[in-house]
Amino acid sequence: NDTIQKIAAGEVIEKPSSIVKELVENSIDAGATNIVVEIKNGGLDYIEVLDNGKGIAKDEIEIAFKRHATSKLNDFNDLYNLQSLGFRGEALASIVSVSKVIISTRTNDEKLGHKVYFEDGKKIEERPIAKNIGTSIIVKDLFYNVPVRKRFLKSKTTEANSITNLMYKLAIGNYGIGITYIKDDKLIFETKEKENLNSVLTELFGVNIVDNLLEFTLSGREYKINGYISNNKYYRANRSLQYIYINGRYIESKEIRDSIETAYKAVIPNGRYPVFQIFLSINPKHIDVNIHPNKEKVQITILEEILNSIQLKTKEILNQEFS
Ligand code: ADP
Ligand code: MG
Repeated sequence: NDTIQKIAAGEVIEKPSSIVKELVENSIDAGATNIVVEIKNGGLDYIEVLDNGKGIAKDEIEIAFKRHATSKLNDFNDLYNLQSLGFRGEALASIVSVSKVIISTRTNDEKLGHKVYFEDGKKIEERPIAKNIGTSIIVKDLFYNVPVRKRFLKSKTTEANSITNLMYKLAIGNYGIGITYIKDDKLIFETKEKENLNSVLTELFGVNIVDNLLEFTLSGREYKINGYISNNKYYRANRSLQYIYINGRYIESKEIRDSIETAYKAVIPNGRYPVFQIFLSINPKHIDVNIHPNKEKVQITILEEILNSIQLKTKEILNQEFS
């Protein structure tokens, strides 16, 4: 049923940034090493995600846009394994039910690619095209057929900012993959394939921030943590440069944030919000994913242990710097 489709779509696609997130995660899942994201007018008029991943074979294009079409879910336990980003087979189906979509894609086995137009969830045209291996998905006129949803969106500027914030999270979390972000015809950043974290941070934030980051690694039996914490020369009046990832996925964790901030203030009382980028690799059996697509929260069963070591490490490296 059409209405049900559109309502269900709202669960996955709350706003333009949800589309960008789903499309980029699909590109990553497809093994892309280069991804270009372009948006116009806060993503409401135009979103394009172009990748050099494995592509979709001609016969599978339409299927990919059907609900619960996923090539990824083999086992229910996969839901708890963060390694594969997509697990619901709902994103493309939802996107195509609330926007006009043009997909161009080609696999390694095909000489020509295929370009398919969708409107109102249906294929309206298909033709062969010359194309590099990989996929481009263009999403136009978001919510053109769901005016109620459109009214609930924030201003174009707010939606654009929320996409920009997401793109920073993705670029940091997936350093090593080349990610280009273009907003309203302006190049915002371009990270390169195989680039290290340090140089990605430089591209995103500028050399003056990166010069003041202290690198660290930590490992326990069931986890490994690496990252950067700022020394006292660089902190902010807000938390905008704090990033935490678990197994490659951006998360919000008040507990981890608090433990770093507390340790930081113990060493540098005048420092308010330290800048940090923390990457945790945790054995998935210790992680409980909140499976709502838009939530950035997970539960870690060995959290106490991790908080303690992060806090100790933060103090240790900051004390070293200042002794
Ligand atoms: P999920 O990611 O949960 O499997 P999606 O609706 O996001 O569901 O995508 C459906 C399917 O379409 C994927 O399982 C994958 O096979 C295919 N697909 C989507 N995007 C891409 C892409 N950029 N490159 C290759 N295949 C893709
Ligand atoms: Mg997906």
